[in-house]
Amino acid sequence: MQPVYLDNNATTRADPAVVAAMLPYFSEQFGNASSAHAFGREVAPALKQARGALRQLLGAASDAEIVFTSGGTESDNAAILSALATQHGRDEIVTTAVEHPAVLAVVDHLEATRGIKVHRIGVDGTGRLDFDGYVRALGPRTALASVMWANNETGTLFPVARLAELAHGAGALFHTDAVQAVGKVAIDLKTTAIDMLSLSGHKLHGPKGIGALYLRKGTPFDALLRGGPQERRRRGGTENVPGIVGLGKAAELALAGLADETARVGALRDRLERAIVDRIGHCVVIGDRDARVPNTTNIAFAHLDGEAILHRLTEAGIAASLGSACASGSMEPSHVLRAMKVPAELLKGAIRFSLSRDTTAAEIDRVIEALPAIFARVRASAPSWQAHLQSSSTATMEPAL
Ligand SMILES: *Cc1c(COP(=O)(O)O)cnc(C)c1O
Repeated sequence: MQPVYLDNNATTRADPAVVAAMLPYFSEQFGNASSAHAFGREVAPALKQARGALRQLLGAASDAEIVFTSGGTESDNAAILSALATQHGRDEIVTTAVEHPAVLAVVDHLEATRGIKVHRIGVDGTGRLDFDGYVRALGPRTALASVMWANNETGTLFPVARLAELAHGAGALFHTDAVQAVGKVAIDLKTTAIDMLSLSGHKLHGPKGIGALYLRKGTPFDALLRGGPQERRRRGGTENVPGIVGLGKAAELALAGLADETARVGALRDRLERAIVDRIGHCVVIGDRDARVPNTTNIAFAHLDGEAILHRLTEAGIAASLGSACASGSMEPSHVLRAMKVPAELLKGAIRFSLSRDTTAAEIDRVIEALPAIFARVRASAPSWQAHLQSSSTATMEPAL
């Protein structure tokens, strides 16, 4: 069968319209936006248009609140380091145990090298934040609270608008890694207290290596990259003009399709999820089914090894991922599933299927058709599954899974 790509939380295909919009800026319109001559002046309107498209997608108050960066990782680093530099007398960070490594590795490093106190707030079994723990951790020494908008592994959405208000109540800044939320849920930053937000082009059908940091007007900021006066001195370095143009186009397309595509993709995700639960069985959907982005389902298969499942899926032309793309290959169970205290018999067997607006109903049908045979093979050669069958056939009561 034609390969089916269900790993869109790792990266998405750049939309052909995005690529087309970028191309002239590699050749005919190659100018440096900082140059005063015609070559430079030609590209300024393109940057302005892209900034405007992002402002609209985010519901930001002004174009000046958008700072282009090299991607989600840089935006997260810039936000966290800036908060510590500008919040004098405050040396604590409140975050969660389930953030992306682009946040977790930064706070780990700050803790190890600068003695910054980090509160990593836990989640419950469905991935919901320990709200009381979050409130208790905020205090007069909190420089920043950083909570992701949507989790990349499970799709669980966090109530960031409310969390931002609580952070402000403690005099702290609030940042959200919204890389997995932008383009999947409606966002209107004007109506929230969020100070900083990170997004990435390649997670919303834009190019790789480009992203943005939303910086609310009036938020103190200390630049991560110093150099030229680009981005109002908030991010030095010659602008990645083709990348910015591509990100702008991606933002425009995401906003235009938001309502229709989230409904369509959500229905496909639900169809896939239901079929797996009904036809494959012995599995559990991981994450908050009441508050999830529409494209993601993370399903843990009991007594199976995710690597073995992925191997058979790959053989059958289905591209999915383990709990997390960033953790795959490490054989360590995902930090997100561990934080959720997913039971041992499920922990290693979690597979993430992530759809996008490229995903068709025909593809989902083909995957649903192919899965029973794939799982029959995985189970036939899984010692843990065979051992489970043995023990449950001799047990007096069927185990739950
Ligand atoms: C992909 C991702 C990032 C990193 O973005 P890059 O542009 O690849 O650096 C950060 N946070 C989350 C939640 C992500 O999914």
